[in-house]
Amino acid sequence: MSAGAFNILWLQAGSCGGCTMSMLEHGSGGWFRELDTLGVNLLWHPSVSEETGTEARVVLERVEAGETPLHALCIEGAILCGPDGTGFFNRLAGTGRAMLDWARALAVKADYCVAIGSCATFGGVPAADPDPTDAVGLQYRKAVAGGALGADYRSRRGLPVINVAGCAPHPGWIMETLAALALDVLTADDLDALGRPKFYVDHLAHHGCSRNEFYEFKASAETLSQRGCLMEHLGCKATQAAGDCNQRGWNGSGSCTKGGFACIACTSPGFEDIRDYHRTPKIGGVPIGLPLDMPKAWFMALAALSKSATPQRVRKNATADHVVVPPRGARRPKE
Ligand code: SF4
Ligand code: SF4
Repeated sequence: MSAGAFNILWLQAGSCGGCTMSMLEHGSGGWFRELDTLGVNLLWHPSVSEETGTEARVVLERVEAGETPLHALCIEGAILCGPDGTGFFNRLAGTGRAMLDWARALAVKADYCVAIGSCATFGGVPAADPDPTDAVGLQYRKAVAGGALGADYRSRRGLPVINVAGCAPHPGWIMETLAALALDVLTADDLDALGRPKFYVDHLAHHGCSRNEFYEFKASAETLSQRGCLMEHLGCKATQAAGDCNQRGWNGSGSCTKGGFACIACTSPGFEDIRDYHRTPKIGGVPIGLPLDMPKAWFMALAALSKSATPQRVRKNATADHVVVPPRGARRPKE
């Protein structure tokens, strides 16, 4: 450990490990080099650290005893409170203690507590109905404040749990959060009402989608693999979902909608309870989930106007799996 380093400890609770997989994709130079550049010292991570068994337990015990300063506690995965509030559905191997117990013991030692991914923030996939393990986030149970640490928890530097929501979160969301903490520039004003960093939740996942032209004309795909907008029939929630997914790109350039799948609003509490992700629920033919900031009457009027003005190119391409009508400008100029 280098003197003056910003120590982070990463634990996995009720997790699929996807948040770590996402994190490992970060940056052309790799995550570890970026941590070095920022002066961040990874005390321990269950997937990438060499310490195991007793060695790993000692790392945690030193933090708990206050012998090793802990600047950021990062927890990936939901905290499983069952059975009967004991947390024993999920113990940290070799310690005999529940992750619920470890999370509470270490969170009070941390300058900052960071929930990595929607499981750790709101309960996520493990909390999906019927929630057999009584899964919660660190400071929320779905959208309700509370969770494993309680609504009143504040870290040693006075912040609530910083909720890097997403399933999995973009590696840039995690790394920029850690960088802001290491550089001591993240304040309570930089978090939204659910504790999520505003730098990425002040965007909608819809912003920058390659299907935006189809959306504007309400030219919709009818089945998967078609090029049109996925909102009207195929369940896309990106006009209501926080995230800059279609602006910063995943693995260099990807996103859910670019890959042909609807946005499922994975940065939102409760997204896991949807039963049919690729079907848009409607009442009277009108989608129930309308774009944020848009009254229903406006949406219906605009949709009707847009559909009546849809260019043939956009309408035909929307229900095709490749471009069947090219833009006029792409035609060969006349000799
Ligand atoms: S948030 Fe998603 S990717 Fe991360 S641990 Fe939970 S299910 Fe896995
Ligand atoms: S597919 Fe979704 S993200 Fe893309 S334009 Fe349509 S509503 Fe927006």
